[in-house]
Amino acid sequence: MPSTKSSFKKIAIEEAFITQEIADELAKIIAAGCPGEPGFKMMGDTILKPGPGTEIIHKRLIDVDQGRIKNMDASGIDMQVISITSPGVQVIEGSLAHELTVHANDQLTAAIKKHPTRFAGLAAVAPQRPELAAIELERAVSTLGLKGALINSHTHGEYLDDKKYWPILEAAEALKVPIYLHPRTPAPSMVTPYLDYGLFFAGWGFAVETSLHSLRLIMGGVFDQFPDLKIILGHMGEGIPFYLQRIDNRYLLQIKIGAVKEMKKLPSEYFKDNFVITTSGVAQQSSLQLSLEELGADRILYAADYPYESVDESVQFLDAALMSDEDKHKIYHGNAERLFSL
Ligand code: CA
Repeated sequence: MPSTKSSFKKIAIEEAFITQEIADELAKIIAAGCPGEPGFKMMGDTILKPGPGTEIIHKRLIDVDQGRIKNMDASGIDMQVISITSPGVQVIEGSLAHELTVHANDQLTAAIKKHPTRFAGLAAVAPQRPELAAIELERAVSTLGLKGALINSHTHGEYLDDKKYWPILEAAEALKVPIYLHPRTPAPSMVTPYLDYGLFFAGWGFAVETSLHSLRLIMGGVFDQFPDLKIILGHMGEGIPFYLQRIDNRYLLQIKIGAVKEMKKLPSEYFKDNFVITTSGVAQQSSLQLSLEELGADRILYAADYPYESVDESVQFLDAALMSDEDKHKIYHGNAERLFSL
């Protein structure tokens, strides 16, 4: 049993791993200068440069066994919901990317079978091959027992509101599993001004990219087509909860002047009905408070973002957060148990 420092059971749901095969392909792409991926190139030139720091991260990403469990125990994490690290296979050529997801999902499933009370998983899929991705999601959920999928935002600068990707969304809705929309560097068409000063990275560019993707899904009518589709956003909703009133307000103005089509519901209503958010990487009471007021404790889930963030900091933050124990139970584990049928 984990040596819990606090009384709350903890399920962390944005916890990363990688297979050696995917890591090798990403290294080849970085070595080739990341053609067509200026954001990922900047990642390769700065954040992912070989060194002691990246070595530790790689070791932790590869380990879906005792080393990971030891780290979980040290921070009192009962269970990790594990998924492929960003940008996953989405910068890799489509057919190979698909093969790598099948292999990664099998590997993750083997780790979960070995540690069924400690690990659960989200499937990797290759949006480059939407039909195959939908088939793989179905296999991953129905045969392997994975709990959903994780997609690392844009694929070659394209977003999931594009109808060619809808087979993936249709499969997720039919299987009643969520898609974790995880950040990566901004799409090639908008990344240029983010390349300076480190803005492409997790401090700002990731949230801009992923919040844009989310709003494209809402404004693109995805949830009228798939009303039961559930999207998970990390990082306290990538800033969207802060802007909900303004997004609605300007949407209503744009309808009045004929600049956008009227949807069945307000953007904020789609956000509250179809999205849940996680605490990954955010340890700020005011952000949590705002999210609680806008969304309620049923739509916020705990995530540690292992191995990129301090798990201890995330636990200390939530343990000390100004909210009821009942809400802490929901955020730490109850909502995850419901969402993933754990
Ligand atoms: Ca992450």
